Amino acid sequence: MAQPILLNPGPVNVSPAVKAAMAGEDWCHREPEFFVLQDHVRASIVRALGLHLPEEAKTWAAILMTGSGTCAVEAMISSLVPAGGALIVVSNGVYGDRIAKIARAHGIAVTEVLSDPSEAPDLAAVERAIVEARAQGARPAALAAVHHETTTGLINPVPALGALAKKHGLVFLLDAVSSLAGEAIDLEAAHVDAAACTANKCFEGLPGICFVVTRRSAVELVAKDPPRSLYFHLPNYLQKQDERDTPFTPAVQVLMALGVATDALVAETVAKRLERYRGYSKIVRDGVEKLGLRLWLPAELRSNTITTIAMPKGRTYEELHDLMRAEGFVIYAGQGDLRSKAFRIANMGQLPERELERAVSVLAKIVG
Ligand SMILES: *Cc1c(COP(=O)(O)O)cnc(C)c1O
Repeated sequence: MAQPILLNPGPVNVSPAVKAAMAGEDWCHREPEFFVLQDHVRASIVRALGLHLPEEAKTWAAILMTGSGTCAVEAMISSLVPAGGALIVVSNGVYGDRIAKIARAHGIAVTEVLSDPSEAPDLAAVERAIVEARAQGARPAALAAVHHETTTGLINPVPALGALAKKHGLVFLLDAVSSLAGEAIDLEAAHVDAAACTANKCFEGLPGICFVVTRRSAVELVAKDPPRSLYFHLPNYLQKQDERDTPFTPAVQVLMALGVATDALVAETVAKRLERYRGYSKIVRDGVEKLGLRLWLPAELRSNTITTIAMPKGRTYEELHDLMRAEGFVIYAGQGDLRSKAFRIANMGQLPERELERAVSVLAKIVG
Protein backbone atom coordinates (compact mmCIF):
# COMPACT_ATOMS: atom_id res chain seq x y z
CA MET A 1 0.00 0.00 0.00
CA ALA A 2 1.16 3.53 -0.75
CA GLN A 3 2.24 5.43 2.33
CA PRO A 4 -0.55 7.20 4.23
CA ILE A 5 -1.23 10.87 3.51
CA LEU A 6 -0.93 12.45 6.93
CA LEU A 7 -3.66 14.99 7.61
CA ASN A 8 -2.90 14.91 11.34
CA PRO A 9 -0.95 17.72 13.07
CA GLY A 10 2.41 15.95 13.03
CA PRO A 11 4.27 13.81 12.44
CA VAL A 12 3.97 14.97 8.84
CA ASN A 13 4.84 13.60 5.44
CA VAL A 14 8.43 14.59 4.70
CA SER A 15 10.48 14.83 1.53
CA PRO A 16 12.40 11.80 0.24
CA ALA A 17 15.66 13.68 1.01
CA VAL A 18 14.72 14.10 4.68
CA LYS A 19 13.89 10.40 4.97
CA ALA A 20 17.05 9.37 3.15
CA ALA A 21 19.15 11.40 5.61
CA MET A 22 18.16 8.96 8.37
CA ALA A 23 20.05 6.23 6.57
CA GLY A 24 23.32 8.16 6.72
CA GLU A 25 26.50 7.01 8.43
CA ASP A 26 26.70 5.72 11.98
CA TRP A 27 28.18 8.50 14.11
CA CYS A 28 29.39 8.95 17.65
CA HIS A 29 27.86 12.07 19.19
CA ARG A 30 31.23 13.07 20.68
CA GLU A 31 33.14 13.30 17.43
CA PRO A 32 33.76 16.46 15.37
CA GLU A 33 31.42 15.47 12.52
CA PHE A 34 28.49 15.46 14.95
CA PHE A 35 29.29 18.94 16.21
CA VAL A 36 29.47 20.28 12.67
CA LEU A 37 25.92 19.00 12.21
CA GLN A 38 24.75 20.32 15.59
CA ASP A 39 26.17 23.81 14.91
CA HIS A 40 24.65 23.79 11.45
CA VAL A 41 21.15 22.85 12.59
CA ARG A 42 21.19 25.35 15.47
CA ALA A 43 22.26 28.16 13.15
CA SER A 44 19.77 27.15 10.45
CA ILE A 45 16.82 27.28 12.86
CA VAL A 46 17.75 30.79 14.02
CA ARG A 47 18.37 31.87 10.42
CA ALA A 48 15.13 30.39 9.06
CA LEU A 49 13.17 32.31 11.69
CA GLY A 50 14.89 35.59 10.76
CA LEU A 51 16.52 35.93 14.21
CA HIS A 52 20.16 35.91 13.07
CA LEU A 53 20.54 39.64 12.41
CA PRO A 54 22.75 41.30 13.42
CA GLU A 55 24.88 38.17 13.16
CA GLU A 56 27.48 39.15 15.76
CA ALA A 57 24.94 40.03 18.46
CA LYS A 58 23.91 36.39 18.97
CA THR A 59 20.80 37.53 20.82
CA TRP A 60 18.99 34.29 20.05
CA ALA A 61 20.00 30.66 20.28
CA ALA A 62 18.38 27.39 19.30
CA ILE A 63 18.80 24.66 21.92
CA LEU A 64 18.37 21.12 20.61
CA MET A 65 16.96 18.29 22.69
CA THR A 66 15.95 14.70 22.08
CA GLY A 67 12.28 14.13 22.71
CA SER A 68 8.86 15.10 21.39
CA GLY A 69 7.44 18.61 21.39
CA THR A 70 6.32 18.27 25.00
CA CYS A 71 9.98 17.77 25.96
CA ALA A 72 10.80 21.24 24.59
CA VAL A 73 7.80 22.77 26.37
CA GLU A 74 8.70 21.07 29.66
CA ALA A 75 12.35 22.17 29.36
CA MET A 76 11.29 25.75 28.63
CA ILE A 77 8.80 25.98 31.50
CA SER A 78 10.87 24.14 34.10
CA SER A 79 14.07 26.03 33.21
CA LEU A 80 13.02 29.58 32.40
CA VAL A 81 10.51 30.51 35.10
CA PRO A 82 12.76 32.30 37.61
CA ALA A 83 13.09 30.63 41.05
CA GLY A 84 10.34 31.65 43.47
CA GLY A 85 8.36 33.23 40.65
CA ALA A 86 4.79 32.37 39.70
CA LEU A 87 3.62 31.54 36.19
CA ILE A 88 0.50 32.95 34.55
CA VAL A 89 -0.81 30.58 31.87
CA VAL A 90 -3.18 31.63 29.11
CA SER A 91 -5.19 28.48 28.52
CA ASN A 92 -7.82 27.87 25.87
CA GLY A 93 -7.20 24.27 24.95
CA VAL A 94 -5.39 21.03 25.65
CA TYR A 95 -1.89 22.50 25.22
CA GLY A 96 -2.48 25.51 27.45
CA ASP A 97 -3.68 23.06 30.05
CA ARG A 98 -0.53 20.97 29.51
CA ILE A 99 1.70 23.98 30.27
CA ALA A 100 -0.07 24.41 33.61
CA LYS A 101 0.32 20.69 34.39
CA ILE A 102 4.03 20.84 33.57
CA ALA A 103 4.52 23.86 35.83
CA ARG A 104 2.70 22.17 38.73
CA ALA A 105 4.77 19.02 38.28
CA HIS A 106 7.87 21.16 38.82
CA GLY A 107 6.44 22.89 41.89
CA ILE A 108 5.89 26.22 40.15
CA ALA A 109 2.96 28.33 41.41
CA VAL A 110 0.47 28.66 38.55
CA THR A 111 -2.49 30.90 37.78
CA GLU A 112 -4.47 29.72 34.78
CA VAL A 113 -6.48 32.23 32.80
CA LEU A 114 -9.04 29.92 31.21
CA SER A 115 -11.16 30.73 28.21
CA ASP A 116 -13.34 28.93 25.68
CA PRO A 117 -11.32 26.83 23.16
CA SER A 118 -13.24 28.46 20.32
CA GLU A 119 -12.54 32.06 21.33
CA ALA A 120 -9.60 34.40 21.60
CA PRO A 121 -8.48 34.91 25.22
CA ASP A 122 -9.64 38.00 27.08
CA LEU A 123 -6.54 40.21 27.36
CA ALA A 124 -8.09 42.22 30.19
CA ALA A 125 -8.56 38.99 32.16
CA VAL A 126 -4.91 38.08 31.58
CA GLU A 127 -3.79 41.46 32.86
CA ARG A 128 -6.11 41.18 35.87
CA ALA A 129 -4.59 37.80 36.71
CA ILE A 130 -1.09 39.33 36.69
CA VAL A 131 -2.14 42.27 38.87
CA GLU A 132 -4.11 40.08 41.30
CA ALA A 133 -1.31 37.53 41.62
CA ARG A 134 1.03 40.37 42.50
CA ALA A 135 -1.47 41.85 44.99
CA GLN A 136 -1.65 38.45 46.71
CA GLY A 137 2.14 38.38 47.04
CA ALA A 138 2.66 35.62 44.45
CA ARG A 139 5.48 37.40 42.53
CA PRO A 140 4.39 36.64 38.96
CA ALA A 141 7.59 36.21 36.95
CA ALA A 142 6.51 34.65 33.68
CA LEU A 143 3.61 34.50 31.24
CA ALA A 144 3.09 31.42 29.08
CA ALA A 145 0.77 30.86 26.14
CA VAL A 146 0.26 28.58 23.17
CA HIS A 147 0.71 30.29 19.82
CA HIS A 148 -1.30 27.86 17.72
CA GLU A 149 -3.71 25.96 19.97
CA THR A 150 -3.77 22.69 18.08
CA THR A 151 -6.94 21.60 19.92
CA THR A 152 -9.02 23.70 17.53
CA GLY A 153 -6.48 25.31 15.18
CA LEU A 154 -6.83 28.69 16.88
CA ILE A 155 -4.16 31.40 16.69
CA ASN A 156 -3.72 33.23 19.98
CA PRO A 157 -2.82 36.96 19.99
CA VAL A 158 0.89 36.57 20.68
CA PRO A 159 1.98 40.20 20.02
CA ALA A 160 -0.68 41.53 22.43
CA LEU A 161 0.26 38.97 25.09
CA GLY A 162 3.93 39.85 24.59
CA ALA A 163 3.14 43.52 25.10
CA LEU A 164 1.39 42.64 28.39
CA ALA A 165 4.35 40.55 29.53
CA LYS A 166 6.70 43.39 28.73
CA LYS A 167 4.52 45.97 30.47
CA HIS A 168 4.54 43.89 33.68
CA GLY A 169 8.16 42.78 33.48
CA LEU A 170 7.37 39.09 32.91
CA VAL A 171 9.36 36.57 30.91
CA PHE A 172 7.18 35.48 27.96
CA LEU A 173 7.29 31.76 27.12
CA LEU A 174 5.54 30.42 24.06
CA ASP A 175 4.50 26.93 23.06
CA ALA A 176 5.04 27.32 19.33
CA VAL A 177 5.30 23.59 18.68
CA SER A 178 2.68 23.53 15.94
CA SER A 179 3.29 27.01 14.57
CA LEU A 180 6.96 27.90 14.02
CA ALA A 181 7.56 27.88 10.25
CA GLY A 182 3.83 27.46 9.69
CA GLU A 183 2.49 30.80 10.93
CA ALA A 184 3.69 34.37 10.60
CA ILE A 185 5.38 35.35 13.85
CA ASP A 186 8.15 37.81 14.64
CA LEU A 187 9.42 36.51 17.98
CA GLU A 188 11.64 39.56 18.43
CA ALA A 189 8.87 42.11 17.85
CA ALA A 190 6.31 40.13 19.89
CA HIS A 191 8.58 40.25 22.98
CA VAL A 192 8.76 36.45 23.10
CA ASP A 193 11.64 35.30 25.32
CA ALA A 194 11.56 31.65 24.36
CA ALA A 195 9.56 29.45 22.02
CA ALA A 196 9.33 25.66 22.14
CA CYS A 197 9.11 23.71 18.88
CA THR A 198 9.58 20.27 17.37
CA ALA A 199 11.18 18.78 14.26
CA ASN A 200 8.16 16.91 12.97
CA LYS A 201 5.49 19.54 12.40
CA CYS A 202 5.97 22.64 10.23
CA PHE A 203 9.76 22.15 10.12
CA GLU A 204 9.03 18.99 8.09
CA GLY A 205 11.59 16.84 9.86
CA LEU A 206 11.08 13.51 11.62
CA PRO A 207 9.96 12.90 15.22
CA GLY A 208 12.62 12.60 17.93
CA ILE A 209 14.27 16.01 18.09
CA CYS A 210 12.73 19.14 19.57
CA PHE A 211 14.15 22.57 20.29
CA VAL A 212 13.73 25.78 22.22
CA VAL A 213 14.50 29.04 20.45
CA THR A 214 15.45 31.44 23.19
CA ARG A 215 16.87 34.83 23.89
CA ARG A 216 20.17 34.29 25.64
CA SER A 217 19.05 36.89 28.21
CA ALA A 218 16.21 34.58 29.34
CA VAL A 219 18.74 31.84 30.10
CA GLU A 220 21.11 34.27 31.81
CA LEU A 221 18.23 35.39 34.04
CA VAL A 222 17.94 31.90 35.58
CA ALA A 223 21.64 30.99 35.45
CA LYS A 224 22.08 31.06 39.24
CA ASP A 225 18.75 29.40 40.08
CA PRO A 226 18.85 25.80 41.33
CA PRO A 227 17.81 23.42 38.50
CA ARG A 228 14.29 22.00 38.81
CA SER A 229 15.31 18.97 36.76
CA LEU A 230 18.44 17.27 35.53
CA TYR A 231 17.46 16.21 32.01
CA PHE A 232 15.32 19.25 31.12
CA HIS A 233 17.70 21.94 32.39
CA LEU A 234 18.17 24.31 29.44
CA PRO A 235 21.15 26.31 30.78
CA ASN A 236 23.13 23.08 30.75
CA TYR A 237 22.18 22.31 27.13
CA LEU A 238 22.96 25.85 26.00
CA GLN A 239 26.36 25.93 27.65
CA LYS A 240 27.32 22.50 26.33
CA GLN A 241 26.06 23.14 22.79
CA ASP A 242 27.84 26.50 22.65
CA GLU A 243 31.03 24.66 23.61
CA ARG A 244 30.44 22.15 20.77
CA ASP A 245 29.47 19.52 23.26
CA THR A 246 26.25 17.77 24.26
CA PRO A 247 25.09 16.71 27.73
CA PHE A 248 23.43 13.42 26.68
CA THR A 249 23.13 11.13 23.67
CA PRO A 250 20.97 12.84 21.03
CA ALA A 251 18.92 11.08 18.34
CA VAL A 252 21.80 11.46 15.88
CA GLN A 253 20.04 10.20 12.74
CA VAL A 254 16.91 12.26 13.45
CA LEU A 255 19.17 15.29 13.69
CA MET A 256 20.68 14.39 10.30
CA ALA A 257 17.14 14.44 8.91
CA LEU A 258 16.44 17.78 10.61
CA GLY A 259 19.60 19.15 9.02
CA VAL A 260 18.21 18.40 5.57
CA ALA A 261 14.78 19.72 6.61
CA THR A 262 16.17 23.03 7.92
CA ASP A 263 18.26 23.48 4.76
CA ALA A 264 15.06 23.04 2.79
CA LEU A 265 13.28 25.56 5.03
CA VAL A 266 16.02 28.15 4.64
CA ALA A 267 15.88 27.64 0.85
CA GLU A 268 12.08 27.79 0.70
CA THR A 269 11.81 30.57 3.34
CA VAL A 270 9.17 30.64 6.06
CA ALA A 271 7.19 33.21 4.04
CA LYS A 272 6.86 30.83 1.10
CA ARG A 273 6.08 27.89 3.35
CA LEU A 274 3.21 29.79 4.95
CA GLU A 275 1.90 30.58 1.49
CA ARG A 276 2.09 26.91 0.55
CA TYR A 277 0.24 25.90 3.73
CA ARG A 278 -2.37 28.61 3.21
CA GLY A 279 -2.92 27.23 -0.29
CA TYR A 280 -3.38 23.73 1.18
CA SER A 281 -5.83 24.92 3.82
CA LYS A 282 -7.82 26.83 1.21
CA ILE A 283 -8.35 23.62 -0.76
CA VAL A 284 -9.59 21.89 2.39
CA ARG A 285 -11.76 24.78 3.63
CA ASP A 286 -13.36 25.69 0.32
CA GLY A 287 -14.02 22.02 -0.37
CA VAL A 288 -15.49 21.28 3.05
CA GLU A 289 -17.72 24.36 3.01
CA LYS A 290 -19.02 23.40 -0.44
CA LEU A 291 -20.14 20.11 1.10
CA GLY A 292 -22.23 22.09 3.55
CA LEU A 293 -20.05 21.21 6.54
CA ARG A 294 -19.43 23.91 9.15
CA LEU A 295 -15.96 25.17 10.04
CA TRP A 296 -15.64 25.33 13.82
CA LEU A 297 -13.71 28.59 14.17
CA PRO A 298 -14.45 32.04 12.76
CA ALA A 299 -12.10 32.92 9.88
CA GLU A 300 -10.07 35.47 11.88
CA LEU A 301 -8.98 32.87 14.45
CA ARG A 302 -8.00 30.09 12.03
CA SER A 303 -4.41 28.96 11.61
CA ASN A 304 -2.83 28.08 8.25
CA THR A 305 -2.58 24.42 9.09
CA ILE A 306 -5.56 23.02 10.99
CA THR A 307 -9.19 22.97 9.97
CA THR A 308 -11.64 21.91 12.65
CA ILE A 309 -14.91 20.77 11.13
CA ALA A 310 -18.21 20.20 12.91
CA MET A 311 -19.08 16.49 12.81
CA PRO A 312 -21.56 15.77 10.02
CA LYS A 313 -24.98 14.74 11.36
CA GLY A 314 -25.39 11.05 12.00
CA ARG A 315 -21.67 10.24 11.68
CA THR A 316 -19.14 9.27 14.32
CA TYR A 317 -15.47 10.14 14.19
CA GLU A 318 -14.54 6.45 14.03
CA GLU A 319 -16.63 5.98 10.88
CA LEU A 320 -15.11 9.05 9.21
CA HIS A 321 -11.62 8.02 10.21
CA ASP A 322 -11.96 4.48 8.91
CA LEU A 323 -13.54 5.49 5.60
CA MET A 324 -10.82 8.12 4.99
CA ARG A 325 -8.12 5.69 6.11
CA ALA A 326 -9.34 3.14 3.56
CA GLU A 327 -8.58 5.76 0.90
CA GLY A 328 -5.12 6.44 2.32
CA PHE A 329 -5.81 9.52 4.48
CA VAL A 330 -5.15 9.90 8.19
CA ILE A 331 -7.44 12.50 9.76
CA TYR A 332 -7.51 13.49 13.40
CA ALA A 333 -10.13 13.39 16.14
CA GLY A 334 -11.33 16.41 18.05
CA GLN A 335 -9.43 16.70 21.32
CA GLY A 336 -10.92 16.82 24.80
CA ASP A 337 -14.57 17.92 24.84
CA LEU A 338 -14.59 18.27 21.06
CA ARG A 339 -14.16 14.57 20.33
CA SER A 340 -17.82 13.88 19.62
CA LYS A 341 -18.53 17.30 18.11
CA ALA A 342 -15.78 17.91 15.60
CA PHE A 343 -12.84 16.42 13.72
CA ARG A 344 -9.65 17.92 12.35
CA ILE A 345 -7.85 17.98 9.04
CA ALA A 346 -4.31 19.28 9.27
CA ASN A 347 -2.21 20.34 6.30
CA MET A 348 1.37 20.48 7.55
CA GLY A 349 4.19 18.83 5.63
CA GLN A 350 4.86 17.78 2.06
CA LEU A 351 1.38 17.32 0.63
CA PRO A 352 0.66 17.15 -3.09
CA GLU A 353 -2.31 19.46 -3.79
CA ARG A 354 -4.02 16.76 -5.82
CA GLU A 355 -4.08 14.57 -2.70
CA LEU A 356 -5.84 17.33 -0.74
CA GLU A 357 -8.34 17.63 -3.57
CA ARG A 358 -8.82 13.87 -3.49
CA ALA A 359 -9.32 14.00 0.29
CA VAL A 360 -12.15 16.48 -0.19
CA SER A 361 -13.77 14.31 -2.86
CA VAL A 362 -13.56 11.23 -0.60
CA LEU A 363 -15.16 13.25 2.17
CA ALA A 364 -17.87 14.29 -0.30
CA LYS A 365 -18.68 10.63 -0.98
CA ILE A 366 -18.82 9.88 2.74
CA VAL A 367 -21.10 12.73 3.76
CA GLY A 368 -22.97 13.01 0.45
C1 LIG B 1 2.09 18.73 19.03
C2 LIG B 1 2.06 19.76 20.09
C3 LIG B 1 2.81 19.64 21.27
C4 LIG B 1 3.71 18.48 21.58
O1 LIG B 1 3.19 17.24 21.37
P1 LIG B 1 4.17 15.97 21.35
O2 LIG B 1 3.23 14.84 21.14
O3 LIG B 1 4.88 15.95 22.64
O4 LIG B 1 5.12 16.19 20.21
C5 LIG B 1 2.80 20.70 22.15
N1 LIG B 1 2.08 21.80 21.92
C6 LIG B 1 1.34 21.95 20.81
C7 LIG B 1 0.58 23.21 20.61
C8 LIG B 1 1.29 20.92 19.87
O5 LIG B 1 0.55 21.06 18.77
